[in-house]
Formats: sequence, structure tokens, C-alpha cells
Amino acid sequence: MAWDFSTDPQWQERLDWIEHFCREQIEPLTLAFPVDFWSGARLPKKLEEIVDGLKQQVKERGLWGIFLDKEIGGPGFGQLKLALVNEILGRNMAAPSIFGCQAPDTGNMDILARYGTPEQKAKYLEPLFNQEIHSCFSMTEPQGGADTHGFRTHAVRDGDEWVINGEKWFSSFGKTADIIIVMCNNGMFIVEQGTPGLEFLLGSGIHAHIRYNDVRVPAGNLLGPEGGAQQVAQFRLGGGRIHHAMRTVAQVKMALDMMCERAISRESRGHLIFDYQSVQNDIADSYMQVEMLRLLVLQTAWKIDNSSGREVRTDIAACKVTAARVLRDVIYRAHHMHGALGTTDLLPLKDIWSSSPSMSMVDGPDEVHKVTIARNLVKNYQPHEGLFPREYLPAKRALARQKFQALIDSDEELREYTERVDRHAARRA
Ligand SMILES: Cc1cc2nc3c(=O)[nH]c(=O)nc-3n(C[C@H](O)[C@H](O)[C@H](O)COP(=O)(O)OP(=O)(O)OC[C@H]3O[C@@H](n4cnc5c(N)ncnc54)[C@H](O)[C@@H]3O)c2cc1C
Repeated sequence: MAWDFSTDPQWQERLDWIEHFCREQIEPLTLAFPVDFWSGARLPKKLEEIVDGLKQQVKERGLWGIFLDKEIGGPGFGQLKLALVNEILGRNMAAPSIFGCQAPDTGNMDILARYGTPEQKAKYLEPLFNQEIHSCFSMTEPQGGADTHGFRTHAVRDGDEWVINGEKWFSSFGKTADIIIVMCNNGMFIVEQGTPGLEFLLGSGIHAHIRYNDVRVPAGNLLGPEGGAQQVAQFRLGGGRIHHAMRTVAQVKMALDMMCERAISRESRGHLIFDYQSVQNDIADSYMQVEMLRLLVLQTAWKIDNSSGREVRTDIAACKVTAARVLRDVIYRAHHMHGALGTTDLLPLKDIWSSSPSMSMVDGPDEVHKVTIARNLVKNYQPHEGLFPREYLPAKRALARQKFQALIDSDEELREYTERVDRHAARRA
């Protein structure tokens, strides 16, 4: 019977290497030079050389772009192994980029690999995979992002081109990306940076507000089927959501480590704060939540590896919502246990805490995913017949009694016993 929670020793060796590499090489670099390695921004030449050297080590270990399947150019390790790797990479913002699996490029590579034509793969997927270019996914519209059916951005065919008009915002890296994959209500399109008609309004940080004014793209830049934007977006966001959840496991594990260390180091009123029951409760509650999230994420990753994908949508939605909730709860407790220090940027907690509301919003608000979970679950049920639920005990008991009636009738002792039980039940009713 296959029911095994252990990591195979060879993969564990690779995880150990990744852990060591992140701790000894990536972390010191990001502490000494706190710049956005992952954003595609230009780095000083010396720093670029160091980062390239780190990426080379990852490639030599066969760990580059581990999210991609074999048939589309990646090593094809699958989601479960990726989840275990992301549990380590998620501790450091720069690590995914050094391993060639940074968002939003990963999701965009996923859809290029799945839906791209051979020309699109050669022109966009390969350079994205090699980090020669960077990308943006432009879906959310100012009038409402949770309801994709209300999107207005539209493309009209004009000879050998499509002409796109509309408005998008929260398009992360929209200004710096080399290509923007824009969701129109009649298809997904690839727009190269610099295409006339792209207008950047005042956005929020890296999240661009873009107006598409008669943006012309070649007919060959339609990604996926005409009219198939919803299908392509669902495929893309499914991967994105579970990858976010995997990286969240890393963050909450770090917060739990920090809480345990703090609890047995800090004293108050002559006691270690660990001696206070409320502190023990916080540690225990956090451990239970971290483990629940981790197992949910790993099991979902396993299901993705072992199923056709569609039936995993409920589990992916559950990972997305649970990750956001566990992140909020555990990071808050870790913050609190570190007192005033926890509220400052002298610890990594403040940054993670400030990103926690985003976790409930990126890739769609939690409410929408809970609706998905509930709707998918209810599909497996039928309404009960009559007034009472299927688990109504008097009806179940009567049925069970019928099953044993012949035995009861044939045995004096059993009949008396049954009558006694019935009298007792009648008195209690
Ligand atoms: C850090 C960050 C990065 C992002 N990056 C990108 C990106 O790269 N590309 C991109 O296209 N978008 C991006 N987004 C946008 C994100 O996908 C949207 O914010 C999200 O889909 C919600 O859309 P909205 O902000 O318009 O909220 P709305 O759709 O206005 O929803 C607001 C609130 O209304 C309620 N609500 C809405 N619908 C329902 C419902 N069906 N049931 C119950 N309650 C509901 C919920 O409380 C919800 O939180 C990013 C967002 C963040 C925060």
C-alpha cells in the first residue's frame, strides 16, 4: 500500500544542497546588497557576475527552471518535488530568480509552453526560460478584477493584425517587462514592450496601470485559442496559486522557528516567556497550522502530478485560501512574541506581515476561491429524500434493526436485551 510521507534520500540530498546554497550564498548576497535581483532591474556589473555565477551553479546541478515539465524544456521533476524546493526558496525573495523560477515569468512560461505555437515558443519561451527577457501578465481591470467576465479589453482582427483597446492595472512589472501577456475578452495576446499605443498611467510601485490604445500585434501573437482567454488564465493561475502557497510554507516555517527561539531566550517577570501558557498556545497553534498547510500543499502537489488537473482545482483553491490565513495568523503571533522589535524592519517579519493582505488578493480574492471550493464539493452530493437528513439516527436504527430482526426473533436473550435497550431509549426521548 502506497502511503508514504518520507522524502526519497536522493531528493533529500538535493534539498540539503539547496538549503546550504541559499543560506551560505544567496542570503549573504541579498543582505549585503539589498536590491531587487528578481525584478529584471540592471545590476552593477560585479554583482551581475556574482549572480550569474550562482545561476550557473544551479544549472550545473540540474535545478534550473524546475517548475517546467520535461516535454517543454524543463527537468520535469513535478509539483511535489517543486513544493519541497519552494519550502526552502520561499525564505528569500531573490532565491526563485536565481533558480529560474520567479513569478510572474513562471506562470507566463507555463501558458507559453502549454498553448504557444512553435514560433511563440522559440521567440518568447526560450528567452524567458534563459532569463534573457522578462514578462508581465496583464489581466486585472480597474472596474473589477475578481469578475473576469466583466472585462472590457477587446481585440479586433484587422488583416494580419489584432488591434487591442482597453485598460488594465496591477500588471506587475508591466513597465519593465519585455513582453506583456494581455487578457482580452476574446483571447490572450502577447504584446512586446515599446509597441505603439501602450500608455502607462500612474500605477502603484511595480504594478503598472496600462491603457491599450489601438495596440497592434501580429496575428501570430494570439496565445491559445481565439475566445479562449478564460481557459488560458485558469491554467496559468492554477500553477501560480500553488506556487505562492509553497513559498508561504517557507515563510511560516521561518516565523515558527523565530517564535521558538524567542520563547526560550526572552525573560519577563523572572521567567522565560515560554513559561507563560499563552506563549505555549501560540507556538502550538502555529505548529498545527503550519503542518496543516504544509500537508495540504504537498498533497495537492502530489495530486497535480497524479491526475489530469481539472479535479485538483478545489484543492488548489483550498491551498490558496489556507496559505493566506495561516500566513496572517502565524506571522501576527511571531510579530507579537517579539514585542516592539517585531514591529520594526530590524526583523524580516514586518515585510512578510505587510505582504499578507496581498496573499488574500493575488490571483483572485479568497471569497471567490471559497465559492469554487464549496460549489465543486456540493456537485458530489444529492439532496436527501423526505424531511430528514441521510444521517437521521432513528431511521438508520430502524433499517439496521430490520437487518438483524431474524436473529433477534430466534434468540430469547437477544430479544430481551433489545427490548430493554428500546425501553431505555424511549425513556430518554
Ligand atoms: C501584490 C499584487 C500583485 C498583483 N499582480 C497582478 C498581475 O501581475 N496581473 C494582474 O492582472 N493582476 C494582478 N493583481 C490583481 C489581482 O489579481 C486582483 O487584485 C484580484 O483579482 C482582485 O481584483 P480587484 O482588486 O479588482 O478586487 P475586486 O474584484 O473589486 O474585489 C474586491 C473585494 O470584493 C469582494 N468580492 C469580489 N467578488 C466577490 C465574490 N464573487 N464573492 C465574494 N466577495 C467578492 C471581496 O471581498 C474582494 O476582496 C495583483 C494584486 C496584488 C495585490
